Amino acid sequence: MTTFDIPTTSRAAVLTEHGAPLELREVPVPQELEAGALLVRIEAATVCGSDLHLWDGSLAGSQALDLPVIPGHEMVGSIIAFGDGAERDTFGAPLKLGDRICFTHASCGQCDHCRFDNQPTLCTNRQYYMFTNCSRPPYLVGGFSEYVYVFPNSGRVRVPDEVPTSWASAASCALRTVVHSFERIGKLNPWDTVVIQGAGPLGLFATALADHLGAGRIVTIGAPDDRLAIAKQYGATDVVSVFEHPEPDDRVAAVRSILDGAGAEVVFEFSGARTAFTEGLGMIKEGGRYMVTGQIDGPGKEVPVRPGFITRQQLTIMGTWSGHIAEYRKALHFMKIARDTYDFGALVPNRYALEDATEALSRMRAQEDIKPVITPHGTGGS
Ligand SMILES: [Zn+2]
Ligand SMILES: [Zn+2]
Repeated sequence: MTTFDIPTTSRAAVLTEHGAPLELREVPVPQELEAGALLVRIEAATVCGSDLHLWDGSLAGSQALDLPVIPGHEMVGSIIAFGDGAERDTFGAPLKLGDRICFTHASCGQCDHCRFDNQPTLCTNRQYYMFTNCSRPPYLVGGFSEYVYVFPNSGRVRVPDEVPTSWASAASCALRTVVHSFERIGKLNPWDTVVIQGAGPLGLFATALADHLGAGRIVTIGAPDDRLAIAKQYGATDVVSVFEHPEPDDRVAAVRSILDGAGAEVVFEFSGARTAFTEGLGMIKEGGRYMVTGQIDGPGKEVPVRPGFITRQQLTIMGTWSGHIAEYRKALHFMKIARDTYDFGALVPNRYALEDATEALSRMRAQEDIKPVITPHGTGGS
């Protein structure tokens, strides 16, 4: 085991009860690492929409979770200790103490989804950050913490030097999920129109990626106006404000009007809004493709759908859950090569200390902050 000095405890913001303020606690730091594990110092943990849903309890319908937990699963850590055999990233690149890495939830590599279907995000034995009880070893299983334990089966990739830490953190859930969605939905062409439902971090990253990939026309739907302004900077040819068009039917009409009555070849749902799916169906061109990424499953999430519409329009509808290590690497690569074209820093302007994690969640929920950055060791850094 190669290490810097390992602290004995780590401050962490802990969720003990849904909806209640997070509790700042001293959590034990494992002093021995399993083979393949890493211990990292969290340099930045950005807040994801899923952290809000974890906090308010709405994720509990679709995901087993065991309180108390440390929220946070979008993060960048610098390595302070290696378990045996962990001195390379998933792609074979050498890692050294102090290197910044992004890392995945852990898939087992043994089950049918991992081995046969090649869909490791569906792993039957997946170990998740932020859903795992933090009162049992290895304790440090969420990003709102000074230190985190990287599971032996977590994929890990070194962050390119050109990518600022806060951007890399946002890549480690939001952008990698977008990359995964784009890979699953297939090729975008210069003659394609893309509609993106949602102007949060996922919708905005998707706007930039669709632009970079050469989609001919991009309509981004969301609010407030400052986010739509970012969408335009990221390449949206048109935007539709949900404040100006509060009803789903209005938004469908607005998109159809922009497209001279036609629909889009590809629609992405990144909004998480309850009505978004039926609304998105109304924006697709006959024969088009629909990627549903932003929705939460569970009781009370039913919406009316006419399945015959999907048949008659010959639509392709797909979902995407999470991302695997290749998507993290692709997301970081995209940031590296496109950093002068798109101002990704616009998504992560504000820093919060660990004791202000609850405020970060509240401000994100109120849409006062697009993607808060928690920096457990002080508010400096990139
Ligand atoms: Zn997330
Ligand atoms: Zn598996």
